[in-house]
Amino acid sequence: MSDRTRKSIPAVVARQLRQEAGFGCCKCGSPILQYHHIIPWRQDEHYRPGDMMVLCPLHHDQATKGAMPTCEQRELKATPHNIQRGRANGLLEVKQDYCAADLGTITVVGEGCFMRIHGEEILSLSLGTKNLEISLKLFSESNELLVQIDKNEWITGDPLPWDIEANWQTLALRERAHKISISLDAKKIPLRIGGQFWYSNKKVSVGKDQIRIEGSNCLGLAHVSGLSESHVADANLGPRREGSSLKERRTRAIAPTTDAPSGARHSSL
Ligand SMILES: [Zn+2]
Repeated sequence: MSDRTRKSIPAVVARQLRQEAGFGCCKCGSPILQYHHIIPWRQDEHYRPGDMMVLCPLHHDQATKGAMPTCEQRELKATPHNIQRGRANGLLEVKQDYCAADLGTITVVGEGCFMRIHGEEILSLSLGTKNLEISLKLFSESNELLVQIDKNEWITGDPLPWDIEANWQTLALRERAHKISISLDAKKIPLRIGGQFWYSNKKVSVGKDQIRIEGSNCLGLAHVSGLSESHVADANLGPRREGSSLKERRTRAIAPTTDAPSGARHSSL
């Protein structure tokens, strides 16, 4: 099979290579990844994880053109940049010149905090010099910080999550197998956000068709600005309504509520 006709790398091998490298180029840590054959495909048509590694486009080019000898590739594979420093990071390229995001079934518009759980600011939007800037904290169910995004720059917490797939304009993070913790898509205008947002045993699930608030038994514990007041109240009426599912048609032109003044949007970051 020639280079031109070969199939794409099996997903399980790709994920193994991302995990062992800490979700970054083995040499520089960039999250924009390509899958490199240390033993070249033309020599041996294989997808053996032991003879492959992840590199960014620049360092992949360096390796394939012979400017990074095989012994150096092996050394980098054994001591990847991100594993050495214990974190992964990157920048989400957002090319959107106004402040709005699609959050499940609603569109939130304006600057400020749009999701607050137990007093913790989870999701905020602001407008930078040119483009939308998103700030976000993603916690696991056990309250570990999985990833923090500060004005489009993301960095993982400790320990590293199970999987991260990053590209210039997209970011998907899985806390464990088959569980998408968050997905951001800045190719879409407005930017699209989905995932499961935990803080202190409260969860807000933002799915394609619904936003679901769980574990809240009084107004304010889990608060998604942008739902109309009646919906927020419904979701937080008390134990009887716990886990109530909110399905509603998309609404627009929704600003953050008064408990999240835009001037205080980054106060806890
Ligand atoms: Zn690199």
